[in-house]
Amino acid sequence: MSVLVYVENADGKFKKSTYEVISYAKTVADQLNTHLTAISIGDVSHEDLESLGKYGSAKVLNVSDEQLKTFVNQAYASVIAEAASKEGAKVVVLANSFTGKGLAPRIAVKLQAGLADSAVELPSTDDGKFIVKKTAFSGKAFAFIELTSDVKIIALNPNSYKVVENGSPATVVDFASDSNESDFKTMVKEIVRATDKVSLPEAELVVSAGRGMKGPENWAMIEELADLLGAATACSKPVSDAGWRPHEEHVGQTGIAVSPNLYIAIGISGAIQHLAGVSSSKTIVVINKDPEAPFFKVADYGIVGDAFEIVPKLIEAVKSYKSNS
Ligand SMILES: Cc1cc2nc3c(=O)[nH]c(=O)nc-3n(C[C@H](O)[C@H](O)[C@H](O)COP(=O)(O)OP(=O)(O)OC[C@H]3O[C@@H](n4cnc5c(N)ncnc54)[C@H](O)[C@@H]3O)c2cc1C
Repeated sequence: MSVLVYVENADGKFKKSTYEVISYAKTVADQLNTHLTAISIGDVSHEDLESLGKYGSAKVLNVSDEQLKTFVNQAYASVIAEAASKEGAKVVVLANSFTGKGLAPRIAVKLQAGLADSAVELPSTDDGKFIVKKTAFSGKAFAFIELTSDVKIIALNPNSYKVVENGSPATVVDFASDSNESDFKTMVKEIVRATDKVSLPEAELVVSAGRGMKGPENWAMIEELADLLGAATACSKPVSDAGWRPHEEHVGQTGIAVSPNLYIAIGISGAIQHLAGVSSSKTIVVINKDPEAPFFKVADYGIVGDAFEIVPKLIEAVKSYKSNS
């Protein structure tokens, strides 16, 4: 019996959500008095694979098969399920990222396993039960679900668990999978990046703006603030519907759900459908000229005032802080 964690990479580099997920999986392994093994698929340097030991995985299975260098949903799920079976893993942990959302249910089917996706806390293992807290109804509620299957899958929401360094370099072992041609019916031939900006679903800082910005011509200050902070930009639905901003920035019930450490909402009213996608942010700052705007009810910090006066002042404050530090 062991715990297996899938460590996702982007262009050969591990993301922050990978370190969160491995730290989380290590704690789950400790809870179950067992060991943690990681599995990496793709082109990652030996040094980076070894470094995973620092986060608690003494062993890393490395799959460097040429066919698997780019992400193939069905094939990756097969490899992870195969590794879980060979390692005797009773719990498989992965990030509830864009990739993880496609992989987790497929792995669950292959292993006949129960799945807790959108997990936000460590499982409770009291009285021999295995109960996982997860977000539900587009982040408007939490659900506690009990996994009763022999093998259990947990997909952890980004920014839900801290990164913990507690180990020494891992042993890296090549893992050759029994790849199946039927897993390669859909292949990625080319990836053309629309932008090289911070990826919104995994961003730690988000600067988001709504209809209060009046028009697309006023977004320069939103982008400047985001650039200064190293934040991703986001927007409300009507803003992307009107074509002021691209659809991939639309946050909420019908858009992307984010869970950053800091969400700055500028000129957004805070309709329930918008809040559904941002309510698991750690700190919410709202800038709105209407003191009755619903967003203030969920804000940690609120500034009542005109965005066109406040945002330039914020930009100056961040610039001056950066030049003095
Ligand atoms: C089925 C359904 C699904 C939906 N899904 C989503 C979703 O996923 N995401 C989403 O965002 N919405 C969604 N909506 C729409 C949602 O109900 C709201 O209409 C929308 O979120 C409002 O966007 P907004 O806050 O940008 O605009 P508004 O409601 O027009 O609010 C603009 C805000 O800006 C403030 N403001 C104006 N001028 C200034 C200024 N100069 N300085 C500071 N503040 C200013 C105003 O006080 C106001 O609070 C959905 C609706 C439905 C029916």
